[in-house]
Amino acid sequence: MFRWLLLTIVSLSFAACATAPEPPPAGRAPVILVSIDGFRPDYLDREATPNLSRLARHGVQGVMRPSFPSKTFPNHYTLVTGLRPDRHGIVDNTFEDPEIPGETFRMSNRKAVGDRKWWDQGAPIWVTAEQAGVVTAPVYWPGSEAEIRGVRPTHWRAFQMSRPNAARVDDLLALLDLPLGRRPQFLTLYFDTVDTAGHRFGPDAPETIAAVAEVDTQVGRLAAGLKARGIVANLVVVADHGMAPLAPDRRIFMDEVLPRSAWRTLAAGAFMAIYPAEGRTAEVEAALLQPHPHMACWRKAEIPERFRYGRNPRVAPIFCLPETGWSLTTRDYRPSWPEGGNHGFDPESPEMAAVFVAGGPAFRPGTILPAFDNVSVYPLLAHLLGVTPEPNDGDIGDVATALTR
Ligand code: AMP
Ligand code: ZN
Ligand code: ZN
Repeated sequence: MFRWLLLTIVSLSFAACATAPEPPPAGRAPVILVSIDGFRPDYLDREATPNLSRLARHGVQGVMRPSFPSKTFPNHYTLVTGLRPDRHGIVDNTFEDPEIPGETFRMSNRKAVGDRKWWDQGAPIWVTAEQAGVVTAPVYWPGSEAEIRGVRPTHWRAFQMSRPNAARVDDLLALLDLPLGRRPQFLTLYFDTVDTAGHRFGPDAPETIAAVAEVDTQVGRLAAGLKARGIVANLVVVADHGMAPLAPDRRIFMDEVLPRSAWRTLAAGAFMAIYPAEGRTAEVEAALLQPHPHMACWRKAEIPERFRYGRNPRVAPIFCLPETGWSLTTRDYRPSWPEGGNHGFDPESPEMAAVFVAGGPAFRPGTILPAFDNVSVYPLLAHLLGVTPEPNDGDIGDVATALTR
């Protein structure tokens, strides 16, 4: 409190003097959380990332295990809540809730992504920070369009996939040019292009590495923009999950395992959430719960403990997971583009690992972290922002060696 008062007095005295430059932001360095969707740690070894590699060399480098399921919305919400998807309630990119009958959460549905009822099981870092008086700008972060627990971030924008990456960087820099009272202390930046290329062409394709190189250029643009402004930020670069190559001969047609009339699902791909039709549960269980080549299915209560998944009412009654790199699909499923890669698989698979790179005054240069679970990013963010974390599944001890204090 005393420190705040002192800074206020200093700021006021600066304001009173017309010729004095604007004072540096009060207190802590801004925290910039950058998500590069689907960026595997080994993408740093493809000689396409001078900027990220420099940040890693002078800062901190690590490998994160995503939470299950290794999809975008569940993991982005985990990164900012420290909760496993089973606890924060965003259990998939697409899901239903028996307490919200007749509606389906879909990440492509603007109304759903902006509706707090889907998000309120968790409290993202920006809600806690805003409540502590910290100005936040979680731009394009899943959840940022909703008034979660009655709190909206000061700055947010409707997600626009067509917005070029360079413009996204410039949007962030413009927020840092705002006057002190409106200038955010916590900001996010999101890039989807590496994930999109990974899906279409696979993780090893030249097109994917070209997308990696382009995003790296944007990280350079960000660093240059910060430097030009004299801003020293704590930069945390993460991914939500990795990417595994697919192959046409690694597909399981679920409608050949059991008749279509006996079940339904919401999405095909790296796993399948199965809803037995009325009165058909015994038949579905008999077909699915037996051993299958390249696939395991469980009742939700029997999903192996290490996935920490299945207690939330939003998880479907039966869950099927193939070996990494296999697809669960149906004979009539026609994807809209070639399927080169996917994620959603077992988070322990090396292909699902997500990148972690950080740098700035809070970080110990040259640290290489042992692999850790992505739930620990949340207590790290709380530490960097100086706010008290909500109860969570993470452990700041996972990243403690990377911190200067
Ligand atoms: P996934 O295949 O699970 O990695 O999902 C990636 C896709 O999520 C991106 O290509 C975007 O279309 C979508 N996405 C990412 N962030 C948002 C957001 N804030 N709002 C809506 N859709 C998003
Ligand atoms: Zn993703
Ligand atoms: Zn994806």
